[in-house]
Amino acid sequence: MKDRYPRIDVDLGKLRDNIDNIVRICRAHKVEVAGVIKGFSGLVECVRQYDDSECSFIASSRLDQLRNLKAQGIRKPLMMIRIPMLSEAKEVVEVTDMSLNSEIEVLRELDHQAGMCGKKHKILLMIDLGDLREGFWGSKELIDAALCVENDMENLELSGVGTNLGCYGAIDATVEKMEELVKAAEQVERAIGRRLRYISGGATTSLPRILENDMPKRVNLLRIGEGIILSQHMCEFLGYDMEYMHRDVFTLKAEVIEIKDKPTKPVGKIVCDCFGRVPVYEDHGIRKRTLLGVGRVDYAFPEDLTPLTDGVKILGASSDHTILDIEDAKDDVFIGAIIGFKVTYSTIVYLTNSRNVVINYLDVRSQA
Ligand SMILES: *Cc1c(COP(=O)(O)O)cnc(C)c1O
Repeated sequence: MKDRYPRIDVDLGKLRDNIDNIVRICRAHKVEVAGVIKGFSGLVECVRQYDDSECSFIASSRLDQLRNLKAQGIRKPLMMIRIPMLSEAKEVVEVTDMSLNSEIEVLRELDHQAGMCGKKHKILLMIDLGDLREGFWGSKELIDAALCVENDMENLELSGVGTNLGCYGAIDATVEKMEELVKAAEQVERAIGRRLRYISGGATTSLPRILENDMPKRVNLLRIGEGIILSQHMCEFLGYDMEYMHRDVFTLKAEVIEIKDKPTKPVGKIVCDCFGRVPVYEDHGIRKRTLLGVGRVDYAFPEDLTPLTDGVKILGASSDHTILDIEDAKDDVFIGAIIGFKVTYSTIVYLTNSRNVVINYLDVRSQA
C-alpha cells in the first residue's frame, strides 16, 4: 500500500499529541471537548486516538460516520452536530447519545423514536447568535422549545444549550457573544427550574476565549475539529503562538508522471478551460514543468496545497492532473519522484473522501 499514490500520510502520534494538548488547555479552564472528526471523514484509526484521550464526546455532522464508529467499537459518547433530518431521526437515536437541535418537529420525532427503542436521547438546543446557520432565533423561541422538551418529551433529556459561530456568517466568538449565550442558557434554566449540564460555546473559532482567559465561567463545552487536526485557524489566521501543536498530521504525497520544458503561455487561440472558465496566462518563456497523478477530483482546490519542496510552484490542475513549475526546484525531480504537500482543512476532507487516495498511517512515536 505504501508504494501506491496519491496517498495521504496520517501521523497518528502527532494527532494524539494535538488532541491531548487542546483537551488539556480546555480542561484547565473547566471546559470539556467534543472531538469533531468530520474533517477527516471519520477515519476510524484516527478516531481511536480520540477514543483513548480525555475528550468527552466524539462528534460528527455525518450520521454514516458515527454509525460506522459505533460498529467499529468506539466507546465514547457520540454526538450528532449537524441538526438531524426528520428522515434520520430513528437512526440518530439508535446510533448517537446526543444531538444538536433547532426544530420542534424534529425533536418530537426524536422523542417518539427514542421511546420506540427504549432510549433516553440527550439534546443540546442551538441558539443562533448572528452567524445565521442553525439555531433558534431569539431567546423566546429557545425557551419555548426548552420547556417543550423538558415537560412534554419524556424520552429526551435536555442537556444544555449551544451555539455555532464563525461559519456561514464568519461572526467572531467574542466575549459579548459568549455572554449572550450564557444569558440565554440561564433564562432557560430559570424557565425549567434547574441547572443545565452543558453550555456549548462553539467550535475552533471559540478557542481564542480559552487562550485569552476570558471565556465566561459557565461555558463548559467546545466542539473542536480544525483546531486539533490542523490548527491553521489559530496559528496562521489569528497568529497565536502554539508551537506545541503539530501542523503536519496530514501530508499529501503524489507521483511525478511527466517532466518537460514547455512554454508558460498556452499555444493557440484561448477559449475556455475544462471547467468552463476563460483563463489568463502570463508569458515567462520556456520553463521546466511537471505533471503529478493527482487532481481536483481528489482535493478540489489546488490553491489549498503547499509544495514541501522549496522552489516548486503549483500552476494549476485538472480533474486528474496537477501541473507544477519545477524550474527552480531545490530537490531533484524525476519521473516516479514523490512530491509532498502541506494541506488545509478542506483538502483533508476531500482527500480522505476520495477513493483514489491511499491512506497511510504513520506513528512517528514508534520510530522515535
Ligand atoms: C463542524 C462543526 C464544529 C467543529 O468545527 P471546527 O471549526 O472544525 O472546530 C462544531 N460544531 C458544529 C455544529 C459543526 O458543524
